Amino acid sequence: MKSCWATESKLSQAREHYRACFLCEHRCAANRLSGERGPCKADAVARVYKHRIEVGEESELVPSHLFYLSGCDLRCVFCIAEANAFDPRRGQPLTPEFFHKAVAWGRSQGARTLEWVGGEPTIHLPAILEAMADCPDLPPVIWKSDFHFTEEALGLLDGAVDVYLADFKFGNDACARRLAGIKRYVEIVTRNLILASRQGDLIVRHLLMPGHFDCCFRPVVRWMRENLPTAKFSIRDGYLPRWQALHYDEVAMPLPPAVADEARALAGAAGLRLVV
Ligand code: SF4
Repeated sequence: MKSCWATESKLSQAREHYRACFLCEHRCAANRLSGERGPCKADAVARVYKHRIEVGEESELVPSHLFYLSGCDLRCVFCIAEANAFDPRRGQPLTPEFFHKAVAWGRSQGARTLEWVGGEPTIHLPAILEAMADCPDLPPVIWKSDFHFTEEALGLLDGAVDVYLADFKFGNDACARRLAGIKRYVEIVTRNLILASRQGDLIVRHLLMPGHFDCCFRPVVRWMRENLPTAKFSIRDGYLPRWQALHYDEVAMPLPPAVADEARALAGAAGLRLVV
């Protein structure tokens, strides 16, 4: 039986993005069915490069069954997924048959939740909705995202997602442009945070990066305090210089341990609702 959100109209609206894609704010309108490729380089096949049970997510979400999809609309130089994030040809196709079997396996391993991660899952939204639509015994669904998606994409997610897990990485557009290759970062991500907070449970994550306390962490805390003071806020302190980070002096080292304590103290003093 199909989930109640999975109407034919919604699934068909989602599929239309493969003909003229507006799933992320690159808004490139690529016809992914006819061989055009946008900045994400994705075609019309979503691919899973691994899936496994994880316990390192926020404690209220674990154990969680994570599905890692290849391909992304951002180009973060420090990406922990490295080449898998940027080559959407990696992995096995996400078909309903594969997905339903995998979900049953995850349940048998004790997964309480299911989490879509990347790369960036939103660029594969039509295939994901299709896979989930008639999946039996689907656990609560978490959407772990860079939040660079469009309002149209968020509309398609409405009802299909239980928890939005948002990466609020940069506190200003200059850092986002230099380290992730995108424009209008703050405007887009903050718009989506507000909209998502009205649509489901929301956890806002910030990955602390070396050298980005004043330019990124402080503005993120300030924005959260002023706009989403009751949303859950998760500070991640496991930064390591992966992928191309060694070419960027400011992020070419691990995070100094004292930074995490200072960050938690600052967020606590700002009255944010910290989760671990
Ligand atoms: S998801 Fe990819 S194809 Fe779609 S708008 Fe974004 S970059 Fe373009």
